[in-house]
Amino acid sequence: MEQDRIYENRDGQINPFRGSEFERMMIAQDQLNIPRTALFFDIDKTFRMKGDVLNDVSRKLAVTAWEANIPIVAVTGVPFHIDRTAEFNPVFNSVEERIAKGDLPYFPVIYTDAGTRRWILNIDQATGKRHYLEDKVYKQKLIDQGFERTEIVSQLNTLINVSEDFKKVNFRFQRPEDEQTFLNGQETPEPFKVSGYFNTASSDQALKMQNLLQQMYPNLRVAVGIDMNDSSNTTYWADILPIDKHEALYELRQFFGIKIAIRAGDSPNDKSMLIEDVNLKDRPDLLKGAVDIAILVGGAENSVKEEIENAIDISNKGKRKTGSYEITTLEDERKKLFYRETAHSKRLGPESIVRGLQIFLRKARRDQSKDAGNENNEKLYAVIEALIEKLKNPRYSLDAEKKIYEK
Ligand SMILES: [Mg+2]
Repeated sequence: MEQDRIYENRDGQINPFRGSEFERMMIAQDQLNIPRTALFFDIDKTFRMKGDVLNDVSRKLAVTAWEANIPIVAVTGVPFHIDRTAEFNPVFNSVEERIAKGDLPYFPVIYTDAGTRRWILNIDQATGKRHYLEDKVYKQKLIDQGFERTEIVSQLNTLINVSEDFKKVNFRFQRPEDEQTFLNGQETPEPFKVSGYFNTASSDQALKMQNLLQQMYPNLRVAVGIDMNDSSNTTYWADILPIDKHEALYELRQFFGIKIAIRAGDSPNDKSMLIEDVNLKDRPDLLKGAVDIAILVGGAENSVKEEIENAIDISNKGKRKTGSYEITTLEDERKKLFYRETAHSKRLGPESIVRGLQIFLRKARRDQSKDAGNENNEKLYAVIEALIEKLKNPRYSLDAEKKIYEK
């Protein structure tokens, strides 16, 4: 898994994707003459609900997207790999373990550890064997950016013992044993992420804690959210990271020239990728016909909902409370669609993604005349339409399901 895989492409830029499944899909899209398109999904409570809940919807989504050569890029806070021989054994499963169990498909690209590590799927053409390689180029970029992990961990370690603010909310590391061995000079499974937990019944207090951490690390990204595994709703997680999910995706989108980015999420650490615009100034060729689609899935926390709704530039404010989508045309000709569930909707996670795609298509079709001359987008709409038709069909290809879900 750790072997090097570094190539240079025509522009001298390094292409760690050479020969990967993601690159194959991009080439397939080029051959169909559709604008490059990718789906960027948070995993838990977005693409995948717990246990059997809506598992069939997730699987169908994975299979139909794969058959349409539209890659799903998973973006999650969970690590890719957990060393089960280590002393400290987390109760949750790693992405790798979940793929092995058939709980998740073989996504073409996976960002783990809240976007700080990138894993690329490769399929051996001769044997059909699939394996993930960690993207060393991406890793190097984060190293070059500078993330003083030792300094952060030792500072927090001190504050945990002496700071009243920290003690009041019982701030602690998520992996206390790992952080101790890290401070003693050993490797960490999360080189670009420092994570803690704290407890409070007050959301104001939680916000205060977030602000405090952000003040300590003004150049880093601090995300805080409520831990869904604790039913008392008093446990918060906190991440200190060199980048956010938006910044993680930005680079991939730039590199491949992805015009249509369909993003979905539910939690505080998904905010950036739903809200932020990709700055395509360096790639003016990508602006015409570009569409940003943000789907805030049903089941998202109220605080996240409110914050995202407030942050997104909503053209028709009157529709905010009842409407499920907003569409804006940005100054640079890009279109932006924001979809979320209404208060009465019962849709959750993957159901909202499917619905968001339907709304996008309906809007796109309605605006088709205005987009005259943009034939390539028209071809994409046909692809998405076919995808939605397949999603509606209860019988779909089990062979394809086997290919992306089974070992
Ligand atoms: Mg989530």
